[in-house]
Amino acid sequence: MSYVVLARKLRPACFGDLIGQETAAQTLRNAVISDRVAHAFLFAGSRGVGKTSAARILTRALNCLNPDNGDPCNTCENCHEINQNASPDVYEIDAASNRGIENIRELRENVNYVPARCRYKVYIIDEAHMLTLESFNALLKTLEEPPSHVKFIFATTDPYKIPPTIISRCQRYDFLRIPIKKMSDFLETVVVKENLEISRQALEMIARNSVGGMRDALTSIDQILSFTGTSATDQKVAQILGILDRESRFAFIEAILRKNAAEALQFFQKLQEHGHDVHDILSDLLQTVKTVSLVQTLGTNPALFQELSSDDLEAFASLGKLAGTDELQQIFHVL
Ligand SMILES: [Zn+2]
Repeated sequence: MSYVVLARKLRPACFGDLIGQETAAQTLRNAVISDRVAHAFLFAGSRGVGKTSAARILTRALNCLNPDNGDPCNTCENCHEINQNASPDVYEIDAASNRGIENIRELRENVNYVPARCRYKVYIIDEAHMLTLESFNALLKTLEEPPSHVKFIFATTDPYKIPPTIISRCQRYDFLRIPIKKMSDFLETVVVKENLEISRQALEMIARNSVGGMRDALTSIDQILSFTGTSATDQKVAQILGILDRESRFAFIEAILRKNAAEALQFFQKLQEHGHDVHDILSDLLQTVKTVSLVQTLGTNPALFQELSSDDLEAFASLGKLAGTDELQQIFHVL
């Protein structure tokens, strides 16, 4: 059997699967249950946080023949067809490549025909901010008086590029970056389910490196496994991600703070030999010094550093004892 990438294999099937988007998911589910569903939605948020997944779940939930407490059953004919991208009533439009007025004119005509099989015709417009102003204007009339059998879902990473006239006609949902702890918890369940060997610390590195996007995190795991098989050491994970692993990072910064130039230089050379990019090493160091400085100033209150494990927080605090605020500032400026 051919390998299915994790992001696809683990694609959320119902509202409860949308990690880190509990508020949006619950509100959408409630709307479906009470049958009070807006005719146009705007899903805003950075890449890979679940906007398109949520749009697809909502589309199925609205058209499912046996919905379960607002969630799609994922087995009925409609759910199945939508899942296979084979429904004649669901249109997924990538606005990055279909941004012109002729595409929108076609859509406007098409909107008037009743759905063939589903209850609603759903138009999911991805990267919606890429539409031209002319296209937005052409859409406006449809959004003002949409046929009752039509739903629009606009997904975008750049909501500020969408005209206010469009935004004001949509129900807006902001999709948040997934917190590192929540993402690491989920990745840990994936590792167990898939029989992989990747440490919690490595998963936290992956989560941090994905800046809140689950799709990027899962893609990173796929990429790592394609190099290493089913188990990966922390060093290997760090190397493939192009970042410093925890031990190297702390040892390196400690050498610098202790003003041990020879040792610091050795670390630097070793990292380069292991294939780390100079720019990546420096930006990682900069981030570390910034965190040391913050922990030094604010103390080790876990509530203020939710993205750090308690071990990391202690390690940053110890590093903070090696240098004064001024010294850290100076290093920060040099970097
Ligand atoms: Zn169904």
